[in-house]
Amino acid sequence: PPEPTDNLRTDPGAIKLASIDYGHIIKEKPFAVLYPTSVDDIRTLIYLSYNSLFSYTIAAKGQAHSTWGQAQANDGVVVQMNSLNRFRNGTGILISGDRSSGFYADVGGEQLWIDVLNATLTRGLSPVSWTDYLYPTVGGTLSNAGISGHTYQKGPQITNVLELDVLTGKGEFVTCSPQKDSELFYAVLGGLGQFGIITRARIVLGPAKKRVKWLRILYSDFSSFSTDQETLISTTGPSDKVMPDFLEGHLLMNQSPLDFYPQSQRRKITFLVNQYGILYIIEVVTYYDNKNEAKKVKQMLKSLKGFLPGFVFEKDVTYLQFLNRVHDQEIELRKKGLWDIPHPWLNIFIPKSRITDFDNGVFRNILLKRNFTSSTVLVYPLLRSKWDERMSAVIAAEEEVFYFVGFLDASADNWEAFDNKNKDILQFCVNAGIKFKQYLGHHATKEEWIIHFGSKWNTFQQRKTRFDPRMILSPGQRIFNY
Ligand code: FAD
Repeated sequence: PPEPTDNLRTDPGAIKLASIDYGHIIKEKPFAVLYPTSVDDIRTLIYLSYNSLFSYTIAAKGQAHSTWGQAQANDGVVVQMNSLNRFRNGTGILISGDRSSGFYADVGGEQLWIDVLNATLTRGLSPVSWTDYLYPTVGGTLSNAGISGHTYQKGPQITNVLELDVLTGKGEFVTCSPQKDSELFYAVLGGLGQFGIITRARIVLGPAKKRVKWLRILYSDFSSFSTDQETLISTTGPSDKVMPDFLEGHLLMNQSPLDFYPQSQRRKITFLVNQYGILYIIEVVTYYDNKNEAKKVKQMLKSLKGFLPGFVFEKDVTYLQFLNRVHDQEIELRKKGLWDIPHPWLNIFIPKSRITDFDNGVFRNILLKRNFTSSTVLVYPLLRSKWDERMSAVIAAEEEVFYFVGFLDASADNWEAFDNKNKDILQFCVNAGIKFKQYLGHHATKEEWIIHFGSKWNTFQQRKTRFDPRMILSPGQRIFNY
């Protein structure tokens, strides 16, 4: 490994910081941590490893919001990406373009999405596709997919990128796009950090609306809930049909927080939760600038059939407040000491044809029966046609509609119980023949990764041989490194 220098640190503080992530489950110690002062520092680090007899592994670490050690490098070198920001001299986020050809932002791979949002809003612009939480880095979410309630309409974040600067596993600096070095471009997007380190991404921007109508609609039965979700995202329907700007869904169980709802309604909601065990909540949003546009949200409700009459709740907030909503929860959880604790998360994609079986087998027969009613569980539909098959990201089977289901548990003292529950969920899917795929997931063996990638495995492996032949990058994913 290279000799320690001022920006290549081996002190216990730097090592400790690079051995933890949001999951607080995997803790692998790197040999050293690079605090780069330029993109060239990272290039040199990779180049030296690639050309040395005994290469060392290198993991770009964004915000370490991973939950299974994906940004760690056992005995290798972790690159603390945010260190780049200090040396960008105001060039970390640059906005260009015009009305006719469209606007875009060139952003450093280390930039946080919240900073991209704040910078673009000053020009009345905004990225069009988001994650629920805005504090991961651009490079971090683009290595996965970047999904949320915007994805059904705008595609995942990886499909809203025009160009990338990438340092490959050979230490080469390549600017790539669908037109130039497209193989690397498609490899890196959703590529789990396996092919290169993203140092710049050109992100599509659109006009930003000022305000948000934010609705939660309560359902007592799953079939009405999922039918209405699918109706909302379907492009067929009356000519005046209003499409939501954002559509998600989640479970409300007896330990779920009720702070979204008016105080006066909480007893009634609790009564319903006790009656039905689970309430299914559609979360739907329209963005607007003026009063007329704000009325669109009511029109959207007309097409819905099965919600509990009278149980539609509305908030009116700014665009920034809505997009940054998870940060408010972060502040509360940090106050209570409940942020930096284990997060045994499971995120999966389920084909639409099996989502009712999943409700019965998992929400009812595992979560409810075994009293996992504190879990935050997201459930919302996505459309296959909004994804790009050439990219490395993997989604569920052949169907056009598939569901994202996220089990976002946190547990200070017994994460294993939640992890065992998640293993039972996966086993249920295997036994029931449900063709699921994990998102942000981890797999114990190479064989499991091969199953995960399915028909994409050969391409994934060939791209690895081409762009990172010595298997230097992102070892914490444990695809090629054990
Ligand atoms: P890290 O955890 O630091 O790294 C993730 C992987 O990417 C690692 O393998 C790392 O080596 C690699 N990597 C990091 N930077 C680069 C780079 N510049 N170039 C190449 N590879 C790189 N995801 C969603 O899609 N939708 C959500 O709604 C969502 N909500 C979340 C909410 C919370 C509270 C949290 C903690 C996470 C959420 N995520 C969500 C997951 C998040 O998007 C991913 O974990 C993402 O990878 C985190 O970004 P990061 O910068 O922390 O990456």
